[in-house]
Amino acid sequence: MGSVRLYNTLTRRKEEFTPADGKTVRLYCCGPTVYNFAHIGNLRTYLFEDLLHRTLLRAGWRVEHVMNITDVGHMTSDADTGEDKMMKAAIREQRSPWEIARFYEDAFLRDLGRLGIIKPSVTPRATEHVAQMIALIERLEARGITYRTDEGIYFDTARDPDYGKLADLHVAGQIAGAREEVNVDPGKRHPADFILWFTNKPNHIMQWDSPWGRGYPGWHIECSAMSMTYLGNTLDIHCGGIDHIPVHNTNEIAQSESATSVPFARFWVHGAFLNVKGSGGPGHAKMAKSGDNFITVERLIERGYHPLAYRYLCMTAHYRSEMAFSWASLDAATKALSRIYELRGRLGERVADDPLNPAQFADAVAEIDDALADDLNAPRAIALLHEAGSYRLWKEFDRVLGLDIDKLSRPAREEEPLTEQLAGLARKRDEARRARRFDEADRLRDEIEKLGYLVGDGVDGSTIRRRLV
Ligand code: AMP
Ligand code: ZN
Repeated sequence: MGSVRLYNTLTRRKEEFTPADGKTVRLYCCGPTVYNFAHIGNLRTYLFEDLLHRTLLRAGWRVEHVMNITDVGHMTSDADTGEDKMMKAAIREQRSPWEIARFYEDAFLRDLGRLGIIKPSVTPRATEHVAQMIALIERLEARGITYRTDEGIYFDTARDPDYGKLADLHVAGQIAGAREEVNVDPGKRHPADFILWFTNKPNHIMQWDSPWGRGYPGWHIECSAMSMTYLGNTLDIHCGGIDHIPVHNTNEIAQSESATSVPFARFWVHGAFLNVKGSGGPGHAKMAKSGDNFITVERLIERGYHPLAYRYLCMTAHYRSEMAFSWASLDAATKALSRIYELRGRLGERVADDPLNPAQFADAVAEIDDALADDLNAPRAIALLHEAGSYRLWKEFDRVLGLDIDKLSRPAREEEPLTEQLAGLARKRDEARRARRFDEADRLRDEIEKLGYLVGDGVDGSTIRRRLV
């Protein structure tokens, strides 16, 4: 693969990428807030990050990929104001916030696996890195960039001349409360200032001792503290969804660079949103964790789709283009996967059967590599692969596309009754899950999947479906 070029949000252009040390890419991706299932919009972002990870591997580098798990609970707006999501879920589900977080973290990691996403090297939990967050806030305090109110410790954006450079924000003229925040803290000096540590929230269940009294961290500080812990002061690439540019990522830069005086990330790579037609009216709206257009991997499986069909669908749109989801588009993706399956049946991997001669094959590989290296142009790569009609070529790129094409099995024609053996395995697995013996449950899942079935976990037990492709 030739040189990799990535669109860098910070410089607003495509730039050639190489890791700073020439060998290992230090990649940080903002992870999920684990108070609910991830929807397929969130997962589109993790899928694009996985495509990036796999492309970097193909380019010959090692990838140290860190993704945080936000289990502290943060507020319902990016600005860390409003209601606490984890508390809301705890009340809704009558479980402790710790149980809620662990349950949805497990569900999230399972979804990543089903979508063929390479598990990040480290998935640190915010609740286990509070000491590092406190240490970082103390560094900022020592540099005089914080102030205290009745609500907690704030980052003073007026003291950071670079504040807002990622989003090209010009915040100087803003008036406190301009973002329509509810209950604006009267002690807050500027609307862009943000909380590093909350005090004075006795109703919040998760609390830790700190130099400022008992309380809990703001959301933004966790990404700065954990990325520095695992990857050092300067990341090669920081990823996230575009919604994070103006607040969350902007604040990560402010905190980190104010503490270390070195660049926080060399490249910022952001993925566009998945939109879905809401039942509330015409047009497409973004998929959100609240709202009735909430589709999970579980729902895809319940409707008989293979999760990898969704992975494929995401790769047919460029990661920087908005994508509209429809069931019809997922049907088309399933059909496209079946075509690859048929190619395997017809042509297999024998060089003699391949429609491309060795020179054509090498040219096609180079052209597809160029597409991927050009800011991850997967739609073009996929078009070239279909055009070539070579199973060997699909196989060559399967490490990047992650479609697991060796394991694709024939699309199901009709629903089949569960055999005694499958039903027994499913029953045992449900029991193991209820008793929280997750290792055993995972082992039983593997057995079921080996038989060509997929397991979905619903509220009242599991569902088992034949693999579609
Ligand atoms: P959250 O769990 O809300 O912090 O979101 C996790 C990730 O999903 C973040 O990187 C968001 O930018 C991303 N995200 C949220 N909604 C969407 C969407 N509709 N399409 C694509 N990415 C999204
Ligand atoms: Zn983050």
